[in-house]
Amino acid sequence: MIRKSPLALILLLLLQLAAAAEPVWQYPLAANLVEGKGGYLVLTNKSVLLDSDYEPHDLVNLTVRAVSRGFQLRSEAADALSAMFQAAEEEAGLKLYVKSAYRSYQTQNTMYQGRLEKIGKDDGVVAYPGSSDHQTGLGVDLLNYEWTRRDGMTPEFGKTAEAAWMEQNAARFGFILRYMPEKQEITGIIYEPWHFRYVGKPVAQYMMENRLSLEEFTQEVSEAIAAYEEQGGNFTALCRALNAPPEPVLLGEADEEGDSEVSIFNRNP
Ligand SMILES: [Zn+2]
Repeated sequence: MIRKSPLALILLLLLQLAAAAEPVWQYPLAANLVEGKGGYLVLTNKSVLLDSDYEPHDLVNLTVRAVSRGFQLRSEAADALSAMFQAAEEEAGLKLYVKSAYRSYQTQNTMYQGRLEKIGKDDGVVAYPGSSDHQTGLGVDLLNYEWTRRDGMTPEFGKTAEAAWMEQNAARFGFILRYMPEKQEITGIIYEPWHFRYVGKPVAQYMMENRLSLEEFTQEVSEAIAAYEEQGGNFTALCRALNAPPEPVLLGEADEEGDSEVSIFNRNP
């Protein structure tokens, strides 16, 4: 048996104390990526409803191919969608079309009431107001030309080259397939090979690689946060530290650029 010197034992003890004081964030994605900053990870479904006045503040008009004018998404999602449309065409020769994008609570409510009157009951085709992913301004329905000519959308669309390409590639642009065929029990929504949801690149890549629904991901994250805080960690503080801008580089006194910051501040007094 190797005998440890008293100094080594003390060091070991100190290391253990330090480890006990500083809990480790265990989730595969960094804490600040899953904290939901900017609202990109907002979950909505039949049991988690958005308020009737939930309306994203940064909606912009889409500039990509669409079945009609006036579609909107949140700014970051709109940019990502443009990049995805361009890649689909350049890499695979596929032309995508927007069929639906942002829908306000009021629009969803009108659609829902209209469906109720037509069918006489909630048949699950139109999402209950407040439960639609489209209200987040991050959900978008994408089709190929042939399907824009059809009356409705069915899971059959999943057999098209466009659907296959989108499922394979959407995560590169920050989108997930929101309603996967094998997650219908969890999402409460049928397989919708046309519905993509922006969550940002790192999260989208993690979710698609692991075939996670947004419901499962949200659950995983809340468990990771709970585990971290059970060990004495402060999740908010951890995220704040990770989001903090890098330390400024201190310039030497002799450096003539040392006071350049002052002139920047003075530019717009
Ligand atoms: Zn949709």
